[in-house]
Amino acid sequence: MKRRDLIRLGMLTGVFSTHGFDLFSGDKKKSSDHFSPVVISTWNHGLDANKVAWDQIKMNGDAIDAVESGVKITESDINNRSVGIGGMPDMEGHVTLDACIMDHNSNCGSVAFIEGIAHPISVARAVMEKTPHVMLVGEGAKKFALDNDFKKIKTPIPEVKKQWKEWKKQNRDKLSKPKVNSENHDTIGLLALDKKGNLSGSCTTSGWAYKMHGRVGDSPIIGAGLFVDNEVGAACATGVGESIIKIAGSHTVVESMRHGFTPQEACEEAVRRIIKVEKNVKNIQCCFIAIDKKGNVGSHAIHKGFNYAIKNSLKEVLVDSTYELT
Ligand code: ASP
Repeated sequence: MKRRDLIRLGMLTGVFSTHGFDLFSGDKKKSSDHFSPVVISTWNHGLDANKVAWDQIKMNGDAIDAVESGVKITESDINNRSVGIGGMPDMEGHVTLDACIMDHNSNCGSVAFIEGIAHPISVARAVMEKTPHVMLVGEGAKKFALDNDFKKIKTPIPEVKKQWKEWKKQNRDKLSKPKVNSENHDTIGLLALDKKGNLSGSCTTSGWAYKMHGRVGDSPIIGAGLFVDNEVGAACATGVGESIIKIAGSHTVVESMRHGFTPQEACEEAVRRIIKVEKNVKNIQCCFIAIDKKGNVGSHAIHKGFNYAIKNSLKEVLVDSTYELT
């Protein structure tokens, strides 16, 4: 998509913002410390998550509470095949979940390869708040969750188990290939800027459907699936985790913003780096969303089809992301 088209698209949807303009209103900023609280999150499921997150921000809540409670909605959604309880299993029929969370003080927590726990995002937050560690995985993460009274779930849910059995019959031990923009994997990442001007982010997924047992993607990895720097901005990712990890995707986006890029430009830069590293991205979709300290937002993807949800005091919208390859 050409730059001119991108700007036009931004004007039509009212969400493209550059330095010097307010999100949505297009008004000149009143002062250099002016900012607009906002929540943004990946894919259609972001609309419901944003509602809950925004309810907290609007009541002067903290961004960290907003990002946790927002994605818990998605984790509880039995109809969602890429996050939480309704998530797709790995090759061996295990639904293994990955999640991470990061606040405005650079505190962060993460769980990976955790099974049978309803809210991995809240376990990640507990790792952040109650342990000296950042990341717990597998059985250790589950034990920690159970010791802290987190709710157990039985996965896969029957419908998903049936699908997996069918897949197993047809594919035997063949690893599934990622499909661009399919529910094969669609993480929710949610970023929030609260009324105090603080940023936080969260990210949670069941990962690549029918992945190898033990596979962990970008989503629980701080700097890859999510990164927050309260002096600069925040970013999160969705898509093929292996490619996102190769460029430390979300950290790359935030660092570009530190060097003066807008959130939109920073997401474009990260997508281009992935294309450079991967060379053949025909079947690889990677997408970023980002927010800066003023509440300006941006997104970019390799391929068409990625969308993300934005909510603030003025509007609630689902926006088609710009993309690199036509
Ligand atoms: N990034 C996630 C993973 O690789 C999946 C996705 O967002 O589509 O596990």
